[in-house]
Amino acid sequence: MRKPIIAGNWKMHKTVSQSVSFVEELSGLIGGADKVETVICPPFTALYAVRDLAKGKIQYGAQNMHWQEQGAFTGEVSPVMLKDVGCKYVIIGHSERRQYFAETDATVNNKLKAAFVHDIIPIMCVGETLEQREKGDTEAVVEEQVRKGLLDLTAEQVGAMVIAYEPIWAIGTGRTASSDDANAVCAFIRRTIAQVIGSQAAENVRIQYGGSVKPDNIRELMNKSDIDGALVGGASLEAASFVKLIKY
Ligand code: PGA
Repeated sequence: MRKPIIAGNWKMHKTVSQSVSFVEELSGLIGGADKVETVICPPFTALYAVRDLAKGKIQYGAQNMHWQEQGAFTGEVSPVMLKDVGCKYVIIGHSERRQYFAETDATVNNKLKAAFVHDIIPIMCVGETLEQREKGDTEAVVEEQVRKGLLDLTAEQVGAMVIAYEPIWAIGTGRTASSDDANAVCAFIRRTIAQVIGSQAAENVRIQYGGSVKPDNIRELMNKSDIDGALVGGASLEAASFVKLIKY
């Protein structure tokens, strides 16, 4: 059985004090909810501050990292540093990273490998643009991202990670993929993993949907066979709304 995983991607939002208040508020609201794994991904600057608060029911991770352990890479943060502040997860290859910071399937692959070396669970993002969807290229695009992103990973590693299917046209637009369309692509990703990596990895890997997930559409999405969770931007920024997603 795959445990559902709801992750909040805060992007470039929240100072240290805002992050601390969020976690305090969420800890109070979350109660006994433990059927779902809850993850928050604050900006780098707030990771250390949430470390002692986000214990037990709330896991945390980073939104990006470099693949080298250290060195002359001005402005970058390494897996060793993320491990040092207790990150359990790291988002890799978000479409905003690919779009604005020139990340490629090759850098995504380097980062995934580095995450496993340092015992951090990667959440790899894939997804097509509106133009690609309208041309009927969704499966080809996603398949290439999955194949190249997961290159040379072991079946055990792939089974332990998380993949987020995030159609770019649905991110921050209020335009969600229908639950059937989202599930169809998540199922396609699982079939691709079965072919490329093996059936056990395909069975174990958790696949999230992301893109305008809100309290009023989460349940329908989560009821689908191949959707094991959600990666949430906007609706993860207020504890009151995020907790509704966790308690879907
Ligand atoms: P959104 O963002 O929920 O605001 O659409 C999702 C994401 O970018 O991970």
